[in-house]
Amino acid sequence: MAKPFDELLSDNRVKEYELLKAEIINIANMRHQTISLLYGAVGAKQTCYNCSKEPLLKDEVGLCKKLLGRNCKYLFCLDCLAEQLDVTAEYLLVRVEDFKNQGCALF
Ligand SMILES: [Zn+2]
Repeated sequence: MAKPFDELLSDNRVKEYELLKAEIINIANMRHQTISLLYGAVGAKQTCYNCSKEPLLKDEVGLCKKLLGRNCKYLFCLDCLAEQLDVTAEYLLVRVEDFKNQGCALF
């Protein structure tokens, strides 16, 4: 039996969303690898409290401080922070750009 048009449309949108999400995660991973190399050179490492990913990106540390408080005890990677706050990683990436545009010193 053919699916109603609405259902097909929403299926496609879910697929689009999944593709976009995979793409963003890929980019984040590539950036992570590049920055790992840079951090490795200076020896500064910060670790995700939840999944132990290290080093955390400057944006990830900035987000934790911005959203959890500057003196927050635990730092999280983008994915874990999104899970903690019950939002998507994409939403957090958009917020990072907002904070940067506002001239926030944490980023
Ligand atoms: Zn994590």
